[in-house]
Amino acid sequence: MTEAGSKMIETTAGRVPVESLGKTLSHEHLRAGNEGIRRQWPHLFDFDEEVAMIAAEVRSAQAHGVETVCDPSCMDLDRDVRFNIAVAAATGMRFVMATGIYGQAYETVPPVLARRPNWEDYLAELFVHDLQVGIQETSVKAAFLKCAADKPGLTPHMEKVHRAAARASLATGAPIMAHSDPNSGTGIEQMRLFLEEGVAPELVVIAHTGDTDDLDYIERLLDLGCYIGLDRYGSDRFLPLERRHVTTLALLERGHGPRMMLGQDAVISLDIRHDPPFAAHITQIFEVAIPELVRRGADPDMLDRMVGANVRSWLAGEAPAPAGEEAPAGEEAPVAFVKADRSLCIGSGQCSALAPRQFRLGPDDRVEVIGAGAVPPADADVVADAVQLCPVEAISMDSGRPGQAPTGKEGGGV
Ligand code: SF4
Ligand SMILES: [Zn+2]
Repeated sequence: MTEAGSKMIETTAGRVPVESLGKTLSHEHLRAGNEGIRRQWPHLFDFDEEVAMIAAEVRSAQAHGVETVCDPSCMDLDRDVRFNIAVAAATGMRFVMATGIYGQAYETVPPVLARRPNWEDYLAELFVHDLQVGIQETSVKAAFLKCAADKPGLTPHMEKVHRAAARASLATGAPIMAHSDPNSGTGIEQMRLFLEEGVAPELVVIAHTGDTDDLDYIERLLDLGCYIGLDRYGSDRFLPLERRHVTTLALLERGHGPRMMLGQDAVISLDIRHDPPFAAHITQIFEVAIPELVRRGADPDMLDRMVGANVRSWLAGEAPAPAGEEAPAGEEAPVAFVKADRSLCIGSGQCSALAPRQFRLGPDDRVEVIGAGAVPPADADVVADAVQLCPVEAISMDSGRPGQAPTGKEGGGV
């Protein structure tokens, strides 16, 4: 098991050694909403009432041993660190805060930002401010970066936000949490961008990967060395509970437990539900998911890691433990990716003989790309040879997008 070392993590309780975070939920929002509505019509909201309602829910998580919650709210989700500070004071819970931009409808950022020259670098500076100086003029600093891609994919604006998050990560060592829509295949595109920017894959968690039961997609994503969030237990509109259980068990069976995080992506208070106050629960994984997974044979210790050690390892930027028979994740970040045009292939087999980690012949004796087609540095020369020797130029290697992305169903959420 890869347990995190002594890296210090910024929280609402100050800087603490990562190993002292204890049982940690990776992705639960105390609240989310529209910043404009709260600013323009504050009479709709009662700060103290919301704090009390959320504190009650937080205490129920503490009854399950939770000591720390990563709250991934950021710009466009009405992040308000004073709110977290108040709930922390009421409950003793620690919160790990985020910085970043969620985007309007997963597509755009305000023109006042997007009209600036080199605005991704400007955003990176803003993010670094939150990581190193403090959030919203408090002494509480962010500890991770947040960005999002959903059904619209990596739009031009969202691509720049991702690059800004990557550059802030490179400048500070902070980890990244990326909201994804696995049913649109965004996770692989997002990881590809982070790797292009030079981010170590073990610093990234692709959130909401558990919204699909497409194991091929999930394993192609895991090929890229990141952590994944099975973090929407309870959101049946994205994937029903039974299919989440089956997917989690299959991934555990294949040895991916060290790279998985369990959660609910709860928004305890969401402004559109505010009248009357609505509490989404952050204890469902303890009351429903984990007991059922254990009943079906899952290892309780590994499930415990998914709400503790794995989250701490991501926050510390540590590579996950080996998954099955794979090389240790994060040991070799890909330098390129292969593609294949199966319609050209004549099945001569040089590629699979020379580069068996990237190519194989399918049942029809035509080339298939294995996984995401990632090319680690150690394989770069041999893959280049394979590409050159293909008699019909059916394969290539570049930094372009890996093929085989699945197509979409419903996205959204936070
Ligand atoms: S070397 Fe080219 S033709 Fe031969 S199997 Fe590979 S892709 Fe197909
Ligand atoms: Zn969320």
